[in-house]
This record gives sequence, structure tokens and C-alpha cells, in this order.
Amino acid sequence: MSASSSISGKSHAADTATRDVVVVGAGFAGLYMLYRLRGLGLSVRVYEQGGDVGGTWYWNRYPGARCDVESMQYSYSFSDELQQEWDWSERYAPQPEILKYVNHVADRFKLRPDIQFNTRVVRASFDEADNSWQVTTSDGKAVTAKYVVLATGCLSNARMPDIKGLSDFKGSVYHTGHWPHEPVDFTGQRVGVIGTGSSAIQSVPVIAEQASHLTVFQRTANFSIPARNAALTVEEREAFRAKYPEIRRFAREQARNGIYTEMPDRGALDDGDNERRSKYESRWSRGGLTFMSVYNNLALDKAANDTAADFVRAKIAEIVSDPTTAKLLQPNNHPIGSKRICVDTDYYATFNRPNVTLVDIRSNPIEEILPNGVRAGGGDYEVDALVLATGFDAMTGSVARLDIVGRQGQTLNQKWAEGPKTYLGLMSAGFPNLFIITGPGSPSVLSNMIVSIEQHVDWIADCIATMRDRGLDTMEARRDAEDKWVAHVNEVAHGTLYPQANSWYMGANIPGKPQIFMPYIGGVGVYRQICNDVAAKGYEGFAMTAAELPQKMAASS
Ligand code: NAP
Repeated sequence: MSASSSISGKSHAADTATRDVVVVGAGFAGLYMLYRLRGLGLSVRVYEQGGDVGGTWYWNRYPGARCDVESMQYSYSFSDELQQEWDWSERYAPQPEILKYVNHVADRFKLRPDIQFNTRVVRASFDEADNSWQVTTSDGKAVTAKYVVLATGCLSNARMPDIKGLSDFKGSVYHTGHWPHEPVDFTGQRVGVIGTGSSAIQSVPVIAEQASHLTVFQRTANFSIPARNAALTVEEREAFRAKYPEIRRFAREQARNGIYTEMPDRGALDDGDNERRSKYESRWSRGGLTFMSVYNNLALDKAANDTAADFVRAKIAEIVSDPTTAKLLQPNNHPIGSKRICVDTDYYATFNRPNVTLVDIRSNPIEEILPNGVRAGGGDYEVDALVLATGFDAMTGSVARLDIVGRQGQTLNQKWAEGPKTYLGLMSAGFPNLFIITGPGSPSVLSNMIVSIEQHVDWIADCIATMRDRGLDTMEARRDAEDKWVAHVNEVAHGTLYPQANSWYMGANIPGKPQIFMPYIGGVGVYRQICNDVAAKGYEGFAMTAAELPQKMAASS
């Protein structure tokens, strides 16, 4: 990296407190952002609160944790050598393998020297006199940067539920999103799992094999599709690699959710009962998230959606032997897919085990946690360990933990008090030179995260390079463009069935959080085109200012 191409024009010794860019977080987003910015010759400091790289995959070490997007697609595409040389072992990579991959990327591209681990960014404050950010970290140090990029992740702020008595529980308490690094062995223990989202659905079958007894406390039943996970053969990997250019292009430009699969050309009601059932059967046998893309209107038309929901409910009744348990496991209060659909290995069948009990805490809410168990609906359930699979303060939670102060002393938390406001999910008006990777208002969690991360990182890197080349000092979302985008995000969401569920997409899982559909549901291909068009039109909707001191601008590298 050459210091001469830096934006500040200052050379950067290792201990200097000035950087061109501060990146917050060293997960998939932060690592690729660092790679791209270093490629531009900029000086970058990444702060990561964890002890190593990986972000969500560093923290989520619960039993059975694996990605629900296939490993050949849940991987970086920016380096062909990388995607050609890395051997994924299974169709869906388990968490330790994903972590190994992220570590490999950090080492392969020599990213670690620019990352400071075990350090949280506490505050970032915009200095209007100098048009720079003052960033304070948990080690009490401060750094000045022209740009700040939040690569803080959408699902990285594990949420402890506020349940009476929890702190008095005498046994061990674990949160799936903040799992210990040492192995946890439940052998011979009575375990209680609270929550039945993706994390629980993955961990319940594994915990049930160890525990003497497992009690699952369910408030809302979820739809889950079998993963059909299996080892990847050499031939499968090779076939995939040979098609990578087309697979990656399709995922970026055509797919709604960034996943390469067939595009549906019919609605569910265009087929007769037999034909429809046979298509659902075929997707059920194939397994995975693509179940939802068998038809093109499952997210739009309730009657169409009901046909898929009924199919899955019938499967649950077939798998689960006890009719009362089967009934409880059948979701009935939201359209299928309107809450993030789960992907499992033997989840429903686990309830046929003699050592597993399902407790309906919707009808019989948890009253309190006792020192040795859980009291719900007047019944006491003794447990030695509690697993809280209660989710995250999604999308905004990890940003809200930072004290971000923009123009005129306004904090981002104040600005977002009634819900996040961004232009394209990338920037928020009043916070110049502050970028968010996969922020609210972008496809983010509705997509293969790696596809969305790479798109945002490339857009931000190109934007910073353009600013440097043109001698621009600040860039900021314009309020009118932001208002229009927020309205568009809402309008598109309300044309679908998604807002009908009390989901974390809506912020509904956090008491008091404004209920607004946060991700952009227009599809990653459409969204990418919008972002590209905005850039091609000279960053339409953004206000940009020229530097007052042209000599501060470095020549383009
Ligand atoms: P989640 O989907 O938000 O599920 C949390 C569960 O805890 C829900 O069943 C919720 O019930 C319950 N819950 C929350 N607070 C509670 C309380 N006070 N009392 C009783 N129950 C309570 O969280 P998650 O399972 O961790 O998944 C979050 C997201 O992370 C997923 O949707 C997915 O996007 C991602 N994820 C992905 C994977 C993967 O790639 N395979 C794996 C895990 C997670 P209600 O529904 O009634 O609120």
C-alpha cells in the first residue's frame, strides 16, 4: 500500500491515529471491504469486537449451526482462485468449516495486520469543520478517518429475553448467538430450549441426541424444509466450479434472493392440485430454501401461499407421530415464508423421541424461570441447562450500539427512533462519508448475504475511488432521495405477504422497536441495477462537496 495515494495525504505509520477509512467489523463484509480499500491504496483500520475474524460465524457456535444457503454459493466470488481452490465438504457447510474458510481468506489475502481484535468502536462523531470522523474505541484510543464503513452485520446483536427469574437460574444459560468457544456437552442433562426459530430448529435435533431430556418451549411454530444435507462429491464440486461464471452472474443479476436456481414462470394456482403437489414434493425431496421459489407468487398471493403452507403442514402431520404435538408444530399464524423459512435436519422427527417434550408457551406463557427450571402455564419443567434461541436485535441492533453522531450533533439513534431511514440502505442523510454494508433498506437478509455484501462493498469502494479521483471531500444522502427510497421500500414490502407476520424483519421481536419492514424486497438483481444507475448518473440522490484544500487530495492510484 502506498501512503502517497491515501486521501488524507498523510503517511501512515503503524501507530498513527489517522486512517483514510475505519471499518467496523471483521466478518465477511469487513474483510472484503478491507481487501478492496487496500487495493485502492488507502489506509484502513478494521476494529472487531471478537477475538478473531468471522462475525456472526465467530459467535454462533451452537450445536448444529450451519448455513442455510448452499456452501458453493455461500462463499466469496471476488477471487476466482479462491473459489476454485477451496473445497467445501458438505452441501451446507457447518459453522466450524465456514469459520475455517473465513480464516483462510484473512490469511490468504494477508488481511490481519490491519485488523484490531477485541476492540469495539464505541463512538463515531463527524467533525463538520474538518469533514472527518473521530472514532473512539473500547481501548480508550481515538482515530480520525475520512470515511467510516459499518460492516457490523444484520444478525450480530444477540438478544437476551427479559424473563423474570432468569438471573436466578442455578444451571448454565447459553444463547445460541453467543455460544461459548469451549465445547458444551449436554450428556445426561435435562435441557430447556426457549425459541423455535432457525437457530433452535438446527440445534434441537443435536441437543436431543445428547440430553437425557429436552424440553422445547415454543411460542410460534415455524415452517421448516428439510436441508437434505450430504457430503459434496468431487464431481459435484467440479461441476459447480465449471459453471461458476454463469452461477455467479445469475445470482447477482437475475435471482431475487442471490441464489442460483430455476426461475419460476408460473403461479401456484396456474397448476391443478396433482401437478402442484408433485412440484412441492419434488422441491421437498430436493430440500432447502428453493422450496419457496417453485412458484412466482407464493410471497404475493395468500391463496397461492396457502397451498404451500398446507403442503408443509401435511408433511409435519405425516412425520410427527403424536397428533397433538404435530398440531402444535404446524404454523398457523403467518403465511409461509413471511418469517424467514427454516432449513433443518430431522427437526420435526426429533419430537418422536421419547426424551423430547414440546411445551406450548403461546397458550401457557412462561411465568418465570425458577432456580431449577421453567414455570409455564402453571406447570414446572425442571432443567439443568437453558438454551436461549431467542434471536437478535436484527439489522439495526448492532448499529444502535454505536454512538454515531452526525451533522449538528444528531445521533443516528435519534434519527432512526421511528425506524431506520437510509438511501439505498447504504447511507443516511446527515451522516456524510458513513457507509453501511447491507443496511436496512437494502436486500440484505432477504438474500444470500455474500452476494449482497460483495455488491455493497464494490459499490462503496468504487464510490470512494471516484471521490478521490474527482477531488471530492464529502458524500451524503439527500433527504428527498432518502424519503423517496424509504417510501419505495415500504410500498414494495406492502405489496407482499411479508408484513403479515410478526417477524424480526419488521422489528416485531424487540419490545418497543418501531415496526417497519426493514429489508428491501425488490430483489437483488433489480436493486443492483438501481445502485449501478445511481452511480452512472453521478451518484444521483447524493450530495457531494469538493475539498476546500485541493492539495489534500492525492493523485489517483
Ligand atoms: P428468531 O428467528 O428470531 O427466533 C427466535 C425464537 O425465540 C422465536 O421462536 C421467538 O418466538 C422466540 N422468542 C424470542 N423471545 C422470546 C421470549 N421472551 N419468550 C419465548 N420465546 C421467545 O432467531 P434465530 O432462530 O436465532 O434466527 C434468526 C435469524 O438468523 C434467522 O431467521 C436466519 O436469518 C438467521 N439464521 C440463519 C441460520 C442459517 O443460516 N441456517 C441459522 C440460524 C439463524 P416468536 O417467534 O413468537 O417471537
